[in-house]
Amino acid sequence: MPSGKVLSPKTIREILSQRKLAPRKSLGQNFLTDNNILAKITEAGIIKPGDLVLEIGPGLGALTEVLLEQAEMVMAIEYDRGLFSILKEHFASSEKLRLFNQDIMETDLSQLVKDQESGLKVIANLPYYITTPIIFKLVEAGINWELMVFLVQKEVAERLCAKPGSKEYGSLTVMLNFYGKVEKIGNVSRKVFYPEPDVDSSIVRITPYRTLETQLLYPRLSRIVQAAFQQRRKTILNALSSNGYFQSKEEGEVLLKEHGIDPQRRGETLSVAEFISLTEGLVPEV
Ligand code: SAM
Repeated sequence: MPSGKVLSPKTIREILSQRKLAPRKSLGQNFLTDNNILAKITEAGIIKPGDLVLEIGPGLGALTEVLLEQAEMVMAIEYDRGLFSILKEHFASSEKLRLFNQDIMETDLSQLVKDQESGLKVIANLPYYITTPIIFKLVEAGINWELMVFLVQKEVAERLCAKPGSKEYGSLTVMLNFYGKVEKIGNVSRKVFYPEPDVDSSIVRITPYRTLETQLLYPRLSRIVQAAFQQRRKTILNALSSNGYFQSKEEGEVLLKEHGIDPQRRGETLSVAEFISLTEGLVPEV
């Protein structure tokens, strides 16, 4: 494989066909073919010497190559065995890279980063079919991530940045905006991938708040948010009542009003701050 960063569609086709491989749609294999986008992703990662970067789905190694230039250590997890063997050969002499042939959803992340306490980052062009489960897995792994930069489908970026009351606003929005500062860095045309996907993409950055309060409140907030969004048409009073959060509807009404929330509002209209205040006001366990 030629050295350098992104590969042209022609080179990608050649490398894959030499091994009797082809891009697998089922694994979200859309390879980046534009160095400017690669630069935008890595710039957003503000990589410092000493950083350990986790890359999910290195593919043919275009992003990996840049990460290796800037980070102390890169851990890259590629599920596809064919791509993994190409990567293994190409990066054989790289001492800064640890490559794993496994499914990110089956990976013990804490074990992976156990020797590093600071400068932990995730930078990845995520496989689109499991974007949301991957993001939740990373957030809920109990790891002190400093920063995450993802290339995701535009629709996921819109959900991450959605306003209360909009159809994109949901548990992903609330939990991620509670967990950290969410920024959309920019949009990316579908034309810069090979093969071209059916949707456009965006680069997003999440900077975790990393406070003890955030860690402690996360599980309780998560359960309340799940309950609120389970049936979007239900009022917040009914949604939480049917999930056992109040002894009675009357008690629920009083509690919601105490937090400045009209009990007849739907959960999807509550801001992140309102969800937080409500969670703090409810008894710790139901
Ligand atoms: N990083 C490359 C790039 O930017 O050109 C490829 C990105 S491609 C959108 C997603 C990559 O994730 C593919 O290489 C795919 O094989 C890999 N992948 C898919 N499912 C995976 C999983 N469950 N665990 C780890 N990698 C996975």
